[in-house]
Amino acid sequence: MAESEPIVVQKFGGTSLATSDRIRNAAELVLSTKQGGRRPVVAASAMGSTTDDLLDMAFDLADRPGERDLDLLLSTGEVVSSALLSILLNSMGAPAVAVTGPAAGIVTDGRYGRARIKTINPAYLRGLIDDGVIPVVAGFQGISESGEVTTLGRGASDTTAVALAVAVGAHHCEINTDVDGIFSADPRIEPNARKLEKVTYEETLEMATLGAKVMHPRSVEVAERHNLRIVVRSSFNRNPGTEILASNEIDIEIGAKVRAVVHNANVARITVLGVPDRPGLAQAIFQPLADAAVNVDVIVQNLAHGGNTDISFSVERTDLEKALGFVTPVAEEVGAGGVSSSSDLGTISIVGTGMQSTPGVAAQMFGALASAGINITSITTSEIRITCLIDENRLEDAVHVLHKSFGLGRR
Ligand code: ADP
Ligand code: ASP
Ligand code: MG
Repeated sequence: MAESEPIVVQKFGGTSLATSDRIRNAAELVLSTKQGGRRPVVAASAMGSTTDDLLDMAFDLADRPGERDLDLLLSTGEVVSSALLSILLNSMGAPAVAVTGPAAGIVTDGRYGRARIKTINPAYLRGLIDDGVIPVVAGFQGISESGEVTTLGRGASDTTAVALAVAVGAHHCEINTDVDGIFSADPRIEPNARKLEKVTYEETLEMATLGAKVMHPRSVEVAERHNLRIVVRSSFNRNPGTEILASNEIDIEIGAKVRAVVHNANVARITVLGVPDRPGLAQAIFQPLADAAVNVDVIVQNLAHGGNTDISFSVERTDLEKALGFVTPVAEEVGAGGVSSSSDLGTISIVGTGMQSTPGVAAQMFGALASAGINITSITTSEIRITCLIDENRLEDAVHVLHKSFGLGRR
């Protein structure tokens, strides 16, 4: 195969590989890429709910399965799907080889369950590509410098795909999923959601970090850093998807101040009560969380009364226990009044690059939520997003009311 033919990384998500028929469909998409004069490299997610099923099995057997064993267990899901897809491609006459993350040269740090890719040695994959063989790489996994199999965090096959695309010098990375692209709101919640033709790295990163599952946040960071083009599209039809690009490459659509509404139910709030109002105490609380890679978002510190303040912040609900494990001893150590937590909250956010130059967006958001009787517990903002903590059971209402208020729908 000609070396000048562009390389394209094609990632298939779990739903897109959930059954034999869907694996066949994915193989056909890979073949049509090859027939179209491009050299495909595939990144595969585990079939359907495999990762959840493996987790359930482990937690059935033990309350606290060892992290190392858990990563080795979870990595098998992607090994199965990549091997099956490669077996099928070969049977269809296209030479392919299934490659595990470690064999693909993906070296990570040693943080089990949320490892970060440090380097990729692309020599083996390049050799395969040069020989006209399609590498079918198991997503979501790598190997630590001490030789242990690691996984990169839930949803991180996207990150494998983008990192591979950068490492092999791909023309772009195609994310094949179960919706037609990136929408103005989760299309499973908002029936009037509109597919965005183009979206910036910054907007996608905010959306991903705020809980829109469609892209793994780190995949967007890596793509932005290396200016790699991403196309998100459905594996079930040939509709054009969404292109993710740098903001200077987008001129259409960008007039809109708000481009998407993002909801997230995977949220919990921790409040540290009666923290002595001294310099350094916020750091004492947040540093251990940062070291343990626990993401902290909406942070509110009340005005000091009588020398003490309350600090509350949100974390991913799945990190709540872990976070409390760090915060509780620090609170005791610094003489705080106590620690409380709640997990019946969610976040609702609006995102858009155009927001930074448009006054009144926050007022419009708060007004729309108020008109639906939705109470805001706390608020956080960046240049291109506003996030409110609200009751979890009002999240869907909030999506609808904001989507409508900012005119994001198709009609
Ligand atoms: P995959 O298994 O292909 O990686 P995911 O389930 O991780 O797919 O991500 C796709 C899902 O993301 C969609 O099914 C959709 O429900 C959800 N989603 C949430 N917000 C959005 C959005 N703004 N645009 C598109 N999809 C979204
Ligand atoms: N299989 C992994 C998960 O379910 C990784 C992925 O699908 O991206 O989180
Ligand atoms: Mg995903």
